[in-house]
Amino acid sequence: MEHPENDAQYTGLTVNSGVAQPPSVNPYLKKFKRKPLPSPAEMVERILKGDVTTLSRAVTLVESINPDHQTVAQEVIEKCLPYSGNSRRIGITGVPGAGKSTSIDVFGLHVLKKGGKLAVLAIDPSSERTKGSILGDKTRMEKLSIHPDAFIRPSPSAGSLGGVARKTRETIVLCEAAGFNNIFVETVGVGQSETAVHSMVDFFLLIQLAGTGDELQGIKRGIMEMADGIVINKADGDNIDRARLAQAQFRSALHLFPPTTSGWMPEVLTYSGYYELGIEEVWAMIDRYFDFVMSNGYFEHKRRQQARYWMFESIDNQLRSNFYNNPEIKVLLENLENEVLSNRLSSFIAAKNALDFYYGEKK
Ligand code: GDP
Repeated sequence: MEHPENDAQYTGLTVNSGVAQPPSVNPYLKKFKRKPLPSPAEMVERILKGDVTTLSRAVTLVESINPDHQTVAQEVIEKCLPYSGNSRRIGITGVPGAGKSTSIDVFGLHVLKKGGKLAVLAIDPSSERTKGSILGDKTRMEKLSIHPDAFIRPSPSAGSLGGVARKTRETIVLCEAAGFNNIFVETVGVGQSETAVHSMVDFFLLIQLAGTGDELQGIKRGIMEMADGIVINKADGDNIDRARLAQAQFRSALHLFPPTTSGWMPEVLTYSGYYELGIEEVWAMIDRYFDFVMSNGYFEHKRRQQARYWMFESIDNQLRSNFYNNPEIKVLLENLENEVLSNRLSSFIAAKNALDFYYGEKK
């Protein structure tokens, strides 16, 4: 381009020709486009061979809210179901800071020393992947995350607890079909998510801390009642005595609870995840539990109960979403809500009106 400033009369001034702006989209990007999705049958075949890339893609489909993805996901799950079930499913809970990730890293390596494969999943309804999931974040489990036989998957992103839990439940099926014979499901021990985890694991481990002075008051009774094992972490250095004291307190507290339906008496142990002390003992307890429930038939019984639970959960879920996603119901509910808020209609009549309309429409 001609620039008048470049005329000889302007000595000492030169204007260089401009540089073309790069395109805003990387022209090489298409080279890295994802491969098209294999057919459900092909995906299943690869999963059964233990192909982790396909397993990850299938889990992504399970987690997707796109109805097309869901259709494929459900087909893959259904085909994987006959190959699932052959694993030890262990739920691990504890308040933030209890040492879950440190412990899972160590427990995981311990388990893998015996061979087999381990999948670490999480249920955390409060997490959103985009904001960085709290649970299951690979960097939190340094050793496991680089182990070739470990598969770590963060919690499905935020949603209703039921939805998040169902996705984790379905992911267990896929992992088992891919040959993962150890499944850890991690959850933060602060809310309802323990119940959801409890409904999908064989053994429920509660990680506790000593030395907070209010050990027993701090935990919800319900969570303690669900635990098959309570382990007091950070029993190291000058914390050992406090950990032992907490152990004694938990043991006596457990005696106040009614006997468990499995007949198993929950054990209380101390250990240190960070210094790797007492890990063998924790795992020996878990082995004892599995031997116990395998021989008295409770293992199978519990799995059947869980299958029933998930059947009703799925029905509930489907009914709810059919109802609330019905476009006419959406409009009707908005009107009824206003009527109720302004005291013109009672809640019960409003609910009856909505349901009558829904079922009338279904007939
Ligand atoms: P999470 O939030 O339950 O996953 O807990 P983390 O595993 O992130 O641990 C929380 C903090 O406790 C970290 O600073 C760990 O280094 C520390 N920690 C974990 N396990 C132990 C242990 O056995 N002993 C000691 N002294 N510290 C530990």
